[in-house]
Amino acid sequence: MVKINDNYQKLQGSYLFSTIAKKVGEYAAGNPDRKIIRLGIGDVTRPLTPSVIGALHNAVDEMADEKTFRGYAPDLGYDFLRKAICDNDFKARGCEIEEDEIFISDGAKPDSGNIQEIFAGDNKVAVCDPVYPVYVDSNVMAGRAGDFVADAGRYSDIIYLPCTAENGFVPELPKTGADIIYLCFPNNPTGEAITKDALQNWVDYANKNGSVIIFDAAYEAYISEENIPHSIYECSGAKECAIELRSFSKNAGFTGLRLGYAVVPKALKRGVSLHSLWARRHATKYNGAPYIVQRAGEAVYSDEGKKEIRGLIDYYMENAKYILSGLKEAGYTVYGGVNSPYVWMATPDGLSSWEFFDRLLENANVVGTPGSGFGSCGEGYFRLTSFGSHENTREAVDRIRKM
Ligand SMILES: *Cc1c(COP(=O)(O)O)cnc(C)c1O
Repeated sequence: MVKINDNYQKLQGSYLFSTIAKKVGEYAAGNPDRKIIRLGIGDVTRPLTPSVIGALHNAVDEMADEKTFRGYAPDLGYDFLRKAICDNDFKARGCEIEEDEIFISDGAKPDSGNIQEIFAGDNKVAVCDPVYPVYVDSNVMAGRAGDFVADAGRYSDIIYLPCTAENGFVPELPKTGADIIYLCFPNNPTGEAITKDALQNWVDYANKNGSVIIFDAAYEAYISEENIPHSIYECSGAKECAIELRSFSKNAGFTGLRLGYAVVPKALKRGVSLHSLWARRHATKYNGAPYIVQRAGEAVYSDEGKKEIRGLIDYYMENAKYILSGLKEAGYTVYGGVNSPYVWMATPDGLSSWEFFDRLLENANVVGTPGSGFGSCGEGYFRLTSFGSHENTREAVDRIRKM
């Protein structure tokens, strides 16, 4: 008889968003006259921009013509997109990344879940706490996490790196050896960024210990301050120890279109070249992002496309500004929201994350995300996002101020 992968039994139910939906549903049913505003969403709301839509239309027409029709895409991505990425995201920032070190994919979530496959089962995994759950769960599935310890709300074999107000939401280097280290900056959920010097310490640690850093830069486009690295390859020695993941979701609104990429430098070797392992994995399990979507991705790097994407980011960051200043005026302690679309607030009056969720829902009819849902160090915090409309964001913040 078939045996299932027992590791799946160790996964914890994702209570976070289902519990939120249930609570909001109950409140809405009991108070049908109230307008509930959701500032908990981690999805964009602005539509795709004209350049992207134009490129999609053109590519669709090409597919209708025998002369320009395309079948299977190259496994690792079309050259036109890899070149645009390489020139704009790396060479323009002084990072010496080559086109053939870029692996086009259908997004940073799949890449961040799949990348662990090329590493042995007995590696020690380190993650930030609070954390984007994919890094943990994909390693649970692969059997690297050990057992879930309910009291601690943590897995026995994962190294958790606390990110709290005390350390500015940037983790300290682990005391015990960490082999695979997941870092995401600017961070979801805290909204805080890492300086180049602090990231350099991690690169040095990884090179000294033979570790590999998986650097999730999905929010890179939101960076507004100097001295915040857009890519880990701005740090010296990063090509020898880091894989970087990027996404078109949060900058260009591709959450429904699907496009991302991973950078695996050829200089990254642990006995063998990780570049060749990831190339082999792609070739075997992936048949490439759709041609029309890769053309849409290329349009993001056109002059017009860049302007439009800037407009999207500015739109969301205007919301972030309004949330930050409104909450500060109301006396709340707030973090993030400067280099990322997320605002991370400390709950007032010693309330737990869920108690504050209830208070906000009942008194302001505003929905956010309890920080404890992202890990035990998220307890006592609450996440608001800037992905709503200007109108809703303003109204929500004004209601919280009156609360
Ligand atoms: C939204 C998000 C992504 C993007 O994932 P896609 O699959 O590219 O849509 C990646 N990492 C983090 C931390 C995110 O919040």
